[in-house]
Amino acid sequence: MLEVEDVKAKVVAIASKPARSSRILENGCILSVGTENLLALLRDGGPQPTASLGDLVNSSRSKAMQDLAELESLGLVTRGGKAPSRGGRRSTIVSLSDSLRYVGVDVGATSVSVAVTGGYLNVLQYAEEESDVRSGPVAILDQVERMIREAFGVASGPLPAAGVGLGLPSPVSFSTGRPVAPPLMPGWDNYPARDELAARLGTAVTVDNDVNIMALGEKHSGIARSQDDFLFVKLGTGVGCGIVVEGEIYRGRDGCAGDIGHIRAGDPTISCHCGRTGCLEAQVGGHALARAAILGAQSGESPRLEARLREQGRLTAMDISRANEFGDPFANRTIRRSGQVLGEALAGIVNFFNPALIVLGGGVSGFGQLLLAELRSVVLDRSTPLATSGLQLELSTARERAGVIGAAWLASDTFLRHATNAPAALPASAG
Ligand SMILES: [Zn+2]
Repeated sequence: MLEVEDVKAKVVAIASKPARSSRILENGCILSVGTENLLALLRDGGPQPTASLGDLVNSSRSKAMQDLAELESLGLVTRGGKAPSRGGRRSTIVSLSDSLRYVGVDVGATSVSVAVTGGYLNVLQYAEEESDVRSGPVAILDQVERMIREAFGVASGPLPAAGVGLGLPSPVSFSTGRPVAPPLMPGWDNYPARDELAARLGTAVTVDNDVNIMALGEKHSGIARSQDDFLFVKLGTGVGCGIVVEGEIYRGRDGCAGDIGHIRAGDPTISCHCGRTGCLEAQVGGHALARAAILGAQSGESPRLEARLREQGRLTAMDISRANEFGDPFANRTIRRSGQVLGEALAGIVNFFNPALIVLGGGVSGFGQLLLAELRSVVLDRSTPLATSGLQLELSTARERAGVIGAAWLASDTFLRHATNAPAALPASAG
């Protein structure tokens, strides 16, 4: 559970945003802004004593009680159990309904992960399968729909969930839920992913870029939990950066903010699939590292990678990581070189953005502390002292679940803000 002061600061921040008007649900119920804050408080801070609710959402006790009654009548929250006494009468605990469900989906270049969560975004079920995003949107959404329906045990009809969040490895127009000019993803450009999946599942769908959802997941349940200004750098097949400003994702005008993979750093002569040379992704992305591993194996520089290549017939970035654990000098050099190139790119970004924290996640972050140490030394060396004086550089602690938890967070955010199908989202049968 969050400290009361943290929660309070967070909710005051939400409450101080330009007020959104009350919303009318499809069944005629009205979900007011106060109830939205109360739901966000419970989601992010866990169950709370009724006596503290007014303080926590920065409203009067009577208004908080009115909002609470509204949410109770919609079946979204329950009262039960007693909080520890603070001297007077013991207060009742308010919790989110046990039957509230969200779905988080993380589509990567080579895999699909699906999580079903409860109202606090606690993962109840998790599944991951291999896939190839280049097989196109219809094949991928078929797979996503099947995995979600299997998780709920519902073969057809509307899904008993309050919403689905979907992350795609592409710039995304957040307002339309469509990918925008994704490189190397035939058929996806401007595809109506949000509306298509919503029609298939009969529930609200929210789509965002995969790195943005990882940043949100890290903020909800990882090392960025108490941070409002940070960067989440994903090192995977692609390289990208989620930008969190004052607690919210910054997406830019076209949804491509943080697309740092094609920043120039390191060796300016290396050619990239984008047609230019010297791109970050062409040196520290998953494909580039797999190629480096094969070169190391074939040149005889790394006997360990050579043996591994003979065994498996292929190599990935993770094989470099394993070889390094066995003291392989080539692997060690390759990881340190990656840290240097990444550090070069991030140093300028640190000067520009002055983040409190940079989190490294994605498959290649399995290079771990060695990568981080190299990265840290380059960033500290090249950024201004003021920009780095309070800067933390850390590995993701939400790890491979950052994406699905963040996607579920996005689904909950849409639900809280719009709640157009609240009662329908809570059937008695929801597992
Ligand atoms: Zn490029």
